[in-house]
Amino acid sequence: MEFNVFEHFKGYQRTTSGPRTPEEQGTAFFLGGHMGPRISEHIDTSAARAGLSRRAFLGTASALPAAMLAVNKITGMRFFEVSEAEAYEPAAAKEIKVNRKPGDDFIVDAHTHICTRKDGYIPGVNTTERGMWFVQLLDDLGKAMGLPNGTKDMTVENFGKLILEGSDTSVAVFNPFGFREDYGGKDMIPIEEQAEVKKRWPTRTVMLGGGLTPNQGLSETLERLTMFVEKYQISGLKLYTFDSTKKRGWWFDDQKAAYPIWERARKLGLKNIGCHKGIPFGQFMARYAHPEDLDAVCDDFPDLNFIAYHSAWPYQHELAALKGFKPQRKNLYAEVGSTFAATVSNRPLECAHVLGTLLRDLGPDYVMWGTDSALWGNPQWQIDAFRKFQIPAQLVEGHGYPVLTPELKAKVFGQNAARIWNLKTTASAPALEPRRVVAV
Ligand SMILES: [Zn+2]
Repeated sequence: MEFNVFEHFKGYQRTTSGPRTPEEQGTAFFLGGHMGPRISEHIDTSAARAGLSRRAFLGTASALPAAMLAVNKITGMRFFEVSEAEAYEPAAAKEIKVNRKPGDDFIVDAHTHICTRKDGYIPGVNTTERGMWFVQLLDDLGKAMGLPNGTKDMTVENFGKLILEGSDTSVAVFNPFGFREDYGGKDMIPIEEQAEVKKRWPTRTVMLGGGLTPNQGLSETLERLTMFVEKYQISGLKLYTFDSTKKRGWWFDDQKAAYPIWERARKLGLKNIGCHKGIPFGQFMARYAHPEDLDAVCDDFPDLNFIAYHSAWPYQHELAALKGFKPQRKNLYAEVGSTFAATVSNRPLECAHVLGTLLRDLGPDYVMWGTDSALWGNPQWQIDAFRKFQIPAQLVEGHGYPVLTPELKAKVFGQNAARIWNLKTTASAPALEPRRVVAV
C-alpha cells in the first residue's frame, strides 16, 4: 500500500521539492493547502512589490508573513498579527527578526523525535508490512519538510542542527517509538540510540521512556520501566495506547493492566506520563486514540501529570470536556504537536477552534507547545506562526475563547513545561551551551 502524508492531512498537495530555509518550508506548507492558489497570487504581488522574482522572494524572510497576510485577506478574519511592511519588504521582515532578542522567549518543544536506528527498517527482514506503513508515512512527511532523505535524515546529528541550533527552541523533550512486534522484536527507536541525544545535549534535552505496553506482559513492562529509570535516568514516559501486539491496544484506566505501571512510575519518582492521543495514523486503531481513559486515571493518580499529545485532535472536544466540566482537576495537560502545524497553515479557523477550546477548558496553564520535529523538519516556521497567530475577535466573543496575549503564549511556549519538568529559565542568554536554560 502506498502512503502519502498529504492524503492524511486532507487538502494538501505537494508544491515544492526542497525548501531552502525553515521559513520557505513553512510557506510551502501554506501554499500546499486548499487556499494555496489564492495565497500564491498574493505572493506574486508581494514579490513584484519587493522588486524580486517569485523564487527569490520565497527565499526571503518576507515570504511567510506574506502568506499569513494573504490568509487574513482571503478569509476576512485576522488570524495573524502581521504588518503590510513585513509582507512586502524583505528588509522590514529581517529587521523585525533581528530586533527580536534571543532569550525573550523560553521555548520548550515538548514533542520531538529522532527517527533512525542503526539496523534500519528493511521490509521482510526486520520490519513488517504494517511497520513500513508508519516508516513511509514519516519518511514522506520529512521529505515534504525539507529533509531530502526522509527518516534517514532524522538523526541525532540533525536533531541538534535543526531543533537546538537551527531554531529558537530552548529545550527539546524527545519522545520514543516502540512497536517492536513490527520492527523485528526491537523498538522502532531503541532507547540506547535515543540516549545519544541526551548525552550530546544534556542541559538542553529531556528524555522520555516509551515502547511500553502491558500487552507485552506486565512484569516485563515493569522491569523495562525500572531499567529505563535506573540505567537511562528518563524524565517521564511517552506511551501509545494503540500497539502492535495482537490485542492492538490498551487503556490507561485499566486497573489490572495499567495501574501497576503508574504505581511503579510513582515509586521511581516519575511524574509526567504522556500518551499519543488523536491522529490515528497508519496501522493504529482509532478507538485507542480517544482520550476518555485519562478521566479515571487523573482522579486515581492525582500526584501524576497526564499529557495528551497532539491534543487528541480531532477528538479535542472529548479531551477538553475532561477538564471543562471538572475544573477541580489539576493534572491533565494537552500538547499541540502536529495538530498546530497541520491546521495553522491550511485550516486557520479550525486551528483557532482547537487552541481556543483547549485554552478555555483545560486552561492556559495546561496547554504545552510541541512541534513533532524533526518529522516536520526545522520547527522555526511553526514557532514564527504561533508567535503571530491570534484567535479572531469574533471567535473570542462567540465562544468565550481567551485572547492569545503574550503572557498566555509564554505559558504555552515554555512556562508550563518548565514547571512540570522542573526546568530553570534563566534571564540572561549565555553564548555557549547551556543556551538560555539550565535543566535540573
Ligand atoms: Zn510524535
